[in-house]
Amino acid sequence: MNTILRIAIQKSGRLSESSLNLIKECGIRFSNGGGKLKSSSTNFPLEFLFLRDDDIPGYVEDGVADIGIVGENEMAEKNKDIEVVKKLGFSKCRLSLAIPKSDDYNDIQDLDGKSIATSYPNILKSYLAKNNIQAEIHEISGSVEIAPGIGLAEAICDIVSSGSTLLSNGLKEVETIFKSEAVLIANKTLTREKQELVNQLTFRMDAVQTGKNNKYILLNAPNDKLEEIIKLLPGMKSPTVLPLARSGWSSIHSVITEDEFWERIQNLREVGAQGILIVPIEKMIL
Ligand code: ATP
Ligand code: MG
Repeated sequence: MNTILRIAIQKSGRLSESSLNLIKECGIRFSNGGGKLKSSSTNFPLEFLFLRDDDIPGYVEDGVADIGIVGENEMAEKNKDIEVVKKLGFSKCRLSLAIPKSDDYNDIQDLDGKSIATSYPNILKSYLAKNNIQAEIHEISGSVEIAPGIGLAEAICDIVSSGSTLLSNGLKEVETIFKSEAVLIANKTLTREKQELVNQLTFRMDAVQTGKNNKYILLNAPNDKLEEIIKLLPGMKSPTVLPLARSGWSSIHSVITEDEFWERIQNLREVGAQGILIVPIEKMIL
């Protein structure tokens, strides 16, 4: 029988769309319409299980799914014996402590003896223990931010990305206790055949991610400036330099990382680059 890899993806929530987009960008076709719990790819030996994110670490540990996509926060909270294959760079957020805006706060000692509502009791417990804080933890499964307002707890520990939910509930963020992004996780005892499929999948994911982190750049430059420009655009091996029809000028092609992009463009203009074009890269294999 042909080996099929099973991946667990969040059924609906903040991880779902980005997880499925990443798989699509890897050239893997599938249907996920109709709120189905399972689906298969038509062009890669991959089967999908659509689950609540809370259940994904456990299902991967048990081998019900071979791999899964989940937030590091959920993985740390569930503390299962699974492997992190790679960070995926999306669903970035943090787990933070927050208190009512009007409360004074100097440092973490101020939470000693307080009650804290959270959906992440394990991560919170270990953070408090590390800081020698005794606090009462109220575990609740959702809408944590309303807990202080209804008198359930004096503080909360919850997921924050922009902080606007905290603000609109009259809370202020006082400590970040955990940083998270989506990760690809795997069962620790995959067969060789399944491991090979995971390798194929991560090879594709790497190409997609590297492509996103880079841009293709084309520009024109007078030949007497070529050396300086080449120094600014080392590219993968070295840039391509092609003569323009107009004598004394060349066209230079290279790749540039997203992070250094604007600063580099400024430098290129200063040394005489003109007609700079920036093109997105769909996939990039180093
Ligand atoms: P489920 O019904 O599957 O249990 P959920 O309500 O527990 O879903 P979501 O709110 O969909 O979870 O969030 C899923 C994951 O996405 C979180 O565990 C976290 O890693 C990440 N996440 C949560 N909120 C944000 C945010 N505002 N920005 C970015 N990522 C977030
Ligand atoms: Mg959940």
